Amino acid sequence: MAEPRPAILIVEDEPEIRRFLRTAFGVEGYRVVESATGRRGSIDAGTHKPDLAIVDLALPDVDGIEVIRRIREWSPMPIIVLSARVQERSKIEALDAGANDYVTKPFGIGELLARVRAALRHAVRSPSGTSILRFGNTVVDLEKRTALRDEEEIRLTPIEFRLLAMLAKQLGMVVTHRHLLTVVWGPTHEKDTHYLRIYMKQLRDKLEIDPVRPRHLLTETGVGYRLVLDE
Ligand code: CA
Repeated sequence: MAEPRPAILIVEDEPEIRRFLRTAFGVEGYRVVESATGRRGSIDAGTHKPDLAIVDLALPDVDGIEVIRRIREWSPMPIIVLSARVQERSKIEALDAGANDYVTKPFGIGELLARVRAALRHAVRSPSGTSILRFGNTVVDLEKRTALRDEEEIRLTPIEFRLLAMLAKQLGMVVTHRHLLTVVWGPTHEKDTHYLRIYMKQLRDKLEIDPVRPRHLLTETGVGYRLVLDE
């Protein structure tokens, strides 16, 4: 029997963007539900039970942030924000409200589709996320707590392992500074972003082929970090 096609809810008031997304997702085999307002989007999320929601923030009735909060009251479905708001504050607010990821307009459809795939994979994975991470010729095993490059051990500190584990839980999606700091160092350190800069540099030096141009441990300026593995 064929796998049921994943359903994507698009909450977006601009008809051209909805049309564009409907076509692009349709070509990739997704089913698409469209809502032109925030209220409609909240209702459609409940009645259609999509596998993932894409939510614009600037909607004509209620703000997209409110739509995210309403969906989060009852559903863990992945939510990706698609917004022209580029300020770090808006991104953090949306992620704190329960969004899993954020794509800014204008956007590349290839990138949006990759984020959707990552979010859907995340949704079906075990709660602990992925335990084997491949960085080129380096393999990190989060369960065994080992890191090997061509059979040679690379030493990672306990904090480095915990950081990787937190990023791996949201593989491919942005994780905020505050979340990483609170979970890894504790709630009293939620503003100590310099800790993250230091440790992320160490991790890149150990795991990236070119630490100056990282391909896996990516910075989301002012917001957080994202772990991307080769698909
Ligand atoms: Ca809009």
